[in-house]
Amino acid sequence: MTYDTQPNASHFVDGAYLEDAAGDPIDVVYPATGAVIARIHAATPAVIAKAVESGLRAQAEWAALSGRERGRVLTRAARIMRDRNRDLSVLETRDTGKPLSETLYVDATSAADALEYFGGLAGSLTGEHVQLGQDWVYTIREPLGLCVGIGAWNYPTQISCWKGAPALACGNAMIFKPSEETPLCALKVAEILVEAGAPAGLYNVVQGAGAVGAALVGHPDVAKVSLTGSVPTGRKVYAAAADGMKHVTMELGGKSPLLIFDDADPDDAVGGAILGNFYSSGQVCSNGTRVFVQRGIKEAFLARLAERLAQAKIGDPLDESVNFGPMVSARQREIVLGYIEKGKAEGARLVCGGSVIDGDGFYIQPTVFADVTDDMVIAREEIFGPVMAVLDFDDEAEAIARANNTPFGLSAGVFTRDLARGHRVIGQLRAGSCFINSYNDAPVEAPFGGVKMSGVGRENSKAAIHHYSQLKSVYVRMGRVEAPF
Ligand code: NDP
Repeated sequence: MTYDTQPNASHFVDGAYLEDAAGDPIDVVYPATGAVIARIHAATPAVIAKAVESGLRAQAEWAALSGRERGRVLTRAARIMRDRNRDLSVLETRDTGKPLSETLYVDATSAADALEYFGGLAGSLTGEHVQLGQDWVYTIREPLGLCVGIGAWNYPTQISCWKGAPALACGNAMIFKPSEETPLCALKVAEILVEAGAPAGLYNVVQGAGAVGAALVGHPDVAKVSLTGSVPTGRKVYAAAADGMKHVTMELGGKSPLLIFDDADPDDAVGGAILGNFYSSGQVCSNGTRVFVQRGIKEAFLARLAERLAQAKIGDPLDESVNFGPMVSARQREIVLGYIEKGKAEGARLVCGGSVIDGDGFYIQPTVFADVTDDMVIAREEIFGPVMAVLDFDDEAEAIARANNTPFGLSAGVFTRDLARGHRVIGQLRAGSCFINSYNDAPVEAPFGGVKMSGVGRENSKAAIHHYSQLKSVYVRMGRVEAPF
């Protein structure tokens, strides 16, 4: 990492980096080596107060601009991000441990996509006119005010923009709290937005763990909270937001099913299962971690899968030829190892992987369990690591019923050459983000989000506009007012 890429203080508030060493220290660890690469401090009440005060001020100024003017700032920020893609990707790799071969293509670039897309939409956000005889109603699409974004650690740059870009496009301000595991990337987003012309305070980044998030969620001046995180945290944040009757978007966890029928293209199916389980070392919320394979092709599927996994290049994530990196933290590695042990103890068949990789980094081998049954813990709980559970099925109706037998509903996928079946099956799967003969694509043009315990609301696409704005309706009477008395 070059020094000009490394953020130079803990927070970015009111248009500038801000330090307050009185906050609890947080060590930023490079997951590939365990080395501490930065030390930052959690936000103190004074930092939070400044973030709120400057956010409110900037929001008033920003909302007074036309949508087109706001959009111009966002698209300029997108251009800056693309110009600095390599530096930002290196930072993302240092923050998360994800290999540069991924981050160069999906992190700052997808964040820029969001800035560009919502920047483009900003000028087209309108209300409507409703004629009612000679009277009429018009609606005004208004911003919500000061929004809070709280991120998980797997996609820090992307999450900060998936929340920030639609919020800002609609005329809101945002305070973003990254995960304490990956605090660096969002600071660069804030810096770039100011460089692109956003008013100071419009997009503030404050650091800290759950307590700082909770202080923001509970703040009376905050109008909306968007969280990307686990279901247990989602429950707490949703409840706290309800207390203040705040708007929420909840992007939570999953245990998504991937159904592979015996007519599927074998290489595509294996490729989809790899993308849906091992990309970002399995730390992806929408992963298809319950892979239901039709019984007749199971062994052939497992053999191809093991062959392909043997080709994974595991190592230094900054080496561009490496395509599989470490877990984000020692703690996450312990959690994932615990699940691997449970899988073994419950009698699942270990097809490959199952161990840590020696060294200082937090590496775990890509792991596949076969003969997994629906009641096993590894088939029920989100692992958030490189652990695939392969389950057998015989027919379509059975596969659909078992796939839906989960409290989660984030994603679902189906591989089949029979497109009628593909649509029929997807139509019955209870999930928000689905795939036919593909897995884990998340273009900004498509709504993204879950059903059931996987969350409420949608990110990306025009749908996100509805979650960052509200309608004021204005009745206009053209004639006299007739009152009863
Ligand atoms: P957590 O739920 O542990 O944390 C999410 C964020 O919430 C973190 O910034 C955390 O702070 C913060 N937080 C924790 N407690 C509170 C609280 N009481 N009030 C406010 N904020 C709080 O999730 P992880 O970071 O471990 O991320 C993994 C989870 O995220 C998985 O379940 C995954 O499925 C989900 N996820 C969902 C996605 C989606 O779009 N649906 C995408 C990516 C991940 P800190 O961690 O710093 O303490």
